[in-house]
Amino acid sequence: MRRYVYDFASGNKDMKDLLGGKGANLAEMTNLGLPVPPGFTITTEACRAYITSGSEPPELRDQLVTHLKALEERMGRRLGQPDDPLLLSVRSGAKFSMPGMMDTILNIGLNDASVTALAARAGERFAWDCYRRLIQMFGTTVLGVDGRLFEAALDEAKRGKGVAGDLDLDAGDLWALTTTFKGLIAEHAGRPMPQDPFEQLTLAVGAVFDSWTGERARIYRRQEHIPDDLGTAVNVMAMVFGNVGMDSGTGVAFTRDPGTGQAGVYGDYLPDAQGEDVVAGIRDTVPLQELENLDPRAYRELLRIMRVLEQHYRDLCDIEFTIERGKLWMLQTRVGKRTAAAAFRIATQLVDEGLINADEALRRVSGAQLMQLMFPRFDRTTAEPIARGVSASPGAAVGRAVFDSRTAVERARAGEKVILVRRETNPDDLAGMIAAEGVLTSHGGKTSHAAVVARGMGRACVCGASALEVDTDRKRFTTADGTVVHEGDLISIDGSGGQVHLGAVPVVPSPVVRYFDGEAAEPGDELVAAVARTMKHADAVRRLGVRANADTAQDAERARRFGAEGIGLCRTEHMFLGDRRRLIEDLILAETPEGRREALDALLPLQRQDFIEILRAMDGLPVTIRLLDPPLHEFLPDLTDLAVQVALDKERGEPDEDRARLLQAVRRLHEENPMLGLRGVRLGLVIPDLFAMQVRAIGEAVAARRAQGGDPRAQIMVPLVADAAELRVIVARARRILAEVAPETGARARCPIGTMIELPRAALTAGRIAEEADFFSFGTNDLTQTTWGLSRDDAESSFFAAYLDKGVFPVSPFESVDRDGVGRLIELAALEGRTARPGLELGVCGEHGGDPDSVRWFHTAGLDYVSCSPFRVPVARLEAGRAAV
Ligand code: PEP
Ligand code: MG
Repeated sequence: MRRYVYDFASGNKDMKDLLGGKGANLAEMTNLGLPVPPGFTITTEACRAYITSGSEPPELRDQLVTHLKALEERMGRRLGQPDDPLLLSVRSGAKFSMPGMMDTILNIGLNDASVTALAARAGERFAWDCYRRLIQMFGTTVLGVDGRLFEAALDEAKRGKGVAGDLDLDAGDLWALTTTFKGLIAEHAGRPMPQDPFEQLTLAVGAVFDSWTGERARIYRRQEHIPDDLGTAVNVMAMVFGNVGMDSGTGVAFTRDPGTGQAGVYGDYLPDAQGEDVVAGIRDTVPLQELENLDPRAYRELLRIMRVLEQHYRDLCDIEFTIERGKLWMLQTRVGKRTAAAAFRIATQLVDEGLINADEALRRVSGAQLMQLMFPRFDRTTAEPIARGVSASPGAAVGRAVFDSRTAVERARAGEKVILVRRETNPDDLAGMIAAEGVLTSHGGKTSHAAVVARGMGRACVCGASALEVDTDRKRFTTADGTVVHEGDLISIDGSGGQVHLGAVPVVPSPVVRYFDGEAAEPGDELVAAVARTMKHADAVRRLGVRANADTAQDAERARRFGAEGIGLCRTEHMFLGDRRRLIEDLILAETPEGRREALDALLPLQRQDFIEILRAMDGLPVTIRLLDPPLHEFLPDLTDLAVQVALDKERGEPDEDRARLLQAVRRLHEENPMLGLRGVRLGLVIPDLFAMQVRAIGEAVAARRAQGGDPRAQIMVPLVADAAELRVIVARARRILAEVAPETGARARCPIGTMIELPRAALTAGRIAEEADFFSFGTNDLTQTTWGLSRDDAESSFFAAYLDKGVFPVSPFESVDRDGVGRLIELAALEGRTARPGLELGVCGEHGGDPDSVRWFHTAGLDYVSCSPFRVPVARLEAGRAAV
C-alpha cells in the first residue's frame, strides 16, 4: 500500500520531493530536537493522485485517520473535542517555496460547541477570535467566498464601534462577527460552515490540493520555471497560539539580513497575533530585537535555535515561530531567499566562518545574481525623496505609477515601464508584480508579501513608505506634503536605499561594474570584496574559456578589463556603418573592375586600421575576425523609400541618375528571404574581392602589429558555411592572400582559419568541414533560427510570446540554448569535428554564450570557450566556474 502520510518524526530534509520543502524541514527540526508542534505531512504524491483523478486517493482517508489518532493520543485531546478541543493548522508546502501562493487554514476543529469550551479554558476573546479566523479562512480558501466580504464585515464592526485595530474588538464583537461570517458563508457558498471537525480537515486538505492548480500558483510557477506536475504536500500540525495575550506573539526571523547579507539576526515580531498577520503586512510589526525586552528568555532561546539551524544547514535560514505564553515553538524553517548582494556576502562569510568551502560558496551564487548587481543605481546626489520606506529588495526602478495588477500588466504589455503602487500586496497582485519594474507599498516590513515576492523575483521594492496615503480606488497617492501622484505619473524607487522620488532619477554605474572596470573598491565595501573573492575562485577552477564579442577597440579594452581572454567574434559588418556605408555602396554599384578596385582600395586602409587597434587592445590574446556576413542590401537604402524618391524625382522632372542606378542595384539585390539568401560565405564566393580585401587587411594588420613589437593573434572566421566545399575555396584563397602579404610586409601572418557552425547542415557534416577548418565557433543565434525554422528577429515579439504565456515552453530557445534540438547538433558537430581533427578548438559566439544556464551546458558539452558581450563576460566567468565545481 502506498504511504501517503508521514509523521514529522519520520522524515528528513532531503525528502523535499515527497514531503515538500516545509514538511521536510519540519521533520528535520523535529529530529534535531527543536520545539516543533507535533504533526504529519501528506505527500506530494497524494496531491498528484488527487489532481489526476479529481478526488482523494482511497488509501489517504484511512491513513489520515490513523495519524490523527496518534496525534490525538500524544496531545491528550481529540480533534474538536467539545470540552477541550485539539485544533489543527493545515498548510501547503511544495518542493520549492512559493511565498503566499498557496493557502493556509488555522484553527481547524473549532465549531459552535467547542468554541465555548475553548473560551472557558483560554478566554472568551481569544476563543471567538480563533473561531472568526477559522470561518474567514475556511470561507475564502475552501468554500470560495470572496474574501472582501469578510474584510468589509470586519471593517464595519470596527467602524460601528469607533475603533481602528482588530485588537480593539472584544469577545462580544467577535462573537457577533462569527455569526455574520457564518451568514456570509450560507449565503455565498450555498452551504453552512461545516461543524464536523474531520470534515473541516478533509475539505481543507482538498482545498490545499486544489490551490496547486489555482491561477496564482500557476503564474508563479511560470515565472520561476517550476514544473506544473510536482504537486504540493500538506502539513497538518497541532495549533499553538500567538494570540493569547501580550506574553504571546508570532514572528519571522532570518539568521542574517536577507537584504544586504549583513551578519546578525534579523526579523519582525508581532505580539498577540496569529498566523499570517506578519507576512500579510496588515499590522505593523516591531523589529525582532524588541523581543529581547518583551520576553528575554524566549528571545535567548530563539537565538540559540537560530545558531543551531545555521550550523546545521550551513546557510542563511528563515524561520517562522510562535510564542505561546512564553513558550517558543518553531513553525517553519528553510534555507532563506536572499538578494543578489546578500548571496555573495553570505557565501563568503560562511567560508570565513569555516562552514563551507570556496567551491560550495561558488555554488551558492549565480550569474543571474551577478547580473543584477551590475545594473546601474540611482545617483545618490539627487534631490530629496518624496518618501522613504523599507529597502525591501534592491535595485533602481523608474516607471509610471499604476495602482492595480491588471493595469500594470496591460501597460507593461504595451511597452511601458511601470511601478506597482499598493497599500500592501497580496497573492492576487502577482501578475502585476511580475509585469512591473518595481513595487512600492505604504504598509508592511521586510517580511511582508511584497518584500518576499519582490526579492525572490529580483524586482526593486520599497515597502512600508508610511508617509504615503495610497488610494487605489482613485488611482493616486498623496505624499506627506500634499503632493498628489496620479496613475501614469513617472516615479523612481530605490530598493537599496528605500527612497521614493518623483520623476525619473538619473542612474550611475554599480560599484561592482566600477570594480570590474578597474577602479579600486571603496574601503569597507564588503559586497565588492565578496564579488572579487568569488570571481577569483571561479577563474581558478573553471575550464571553459571566456571571450568577448567586440567590434571596436574600446569594447575590446573594456572586455579585457572585465576578464575576457580574447575576442570570439568581431562582426566586421559593424565597421561599415556610418560614413563608411557610402564606400560599400560604391563597391556594390561599381560597374567595372576598376571601379570595384577603387572602392576596395578605399576600404582597405580603414579595415587595416580597425584591426590594428583591436589587435592592440587584445595583444597576446586570440582575436576572431569574421568576414562579412549580412546580405549586402543591408548597406543600401530601403527599396520602397528609394522607389518613392525616384518616382518623385521623375514627377518633378529632375531625374537623378545616381539614385536611379542605386534603385536598380537595390532591386537586383532584393531577396524574399534575405537571411537565407546571399550572405556569409556565399558572398565570399560570389563577390570574392570583398573577402579578399578583408583577409588582406587582417594580414597587414598582423604584420603592422608585429612591426610595432606586439603579439597579434588574429583568427579568420567564415560565416554561414553549409558544406565543406564552400569553406575549401575560401580557405585556399585566404591562404594565398596571406602568403602574398608576407613578402610585402616582411612578416608571415600565421592566422588560423575556421568557420562558424550555424546551419544544421554544417553541424551534420561537421566531420568533413573540420578537414578544412582550424576551429569551429557555434553561431547559436542562426543555428537556433534555422533548426527551429523560427525567425530570430520576429518570433519573440510575435507568436512566441503567446507560447511562453501559455506555458508551452518555459523559456525562449533564443535566450537559453535548446539542449534537445540545437544542443544535439552541437554535440554531434563537436564529436565529429574533433574526431576528424583532434584538438579542434570549439567555441560559441551566439547570444547564448552569455546566458548563465547555457554557459553551464556548454561546459558540460566539452566546448573550449564561450564568447559574449563585454558586459556579460563576468557572468560567463562565474557560471563557467560554477559549472566546474
Ligand atoms: C550567430 O548566428 O549565432 C552569430 C553569432 O552570428 P550573428 O548573430 O552575427 O548572425
Ligand atoms: Mg550568425
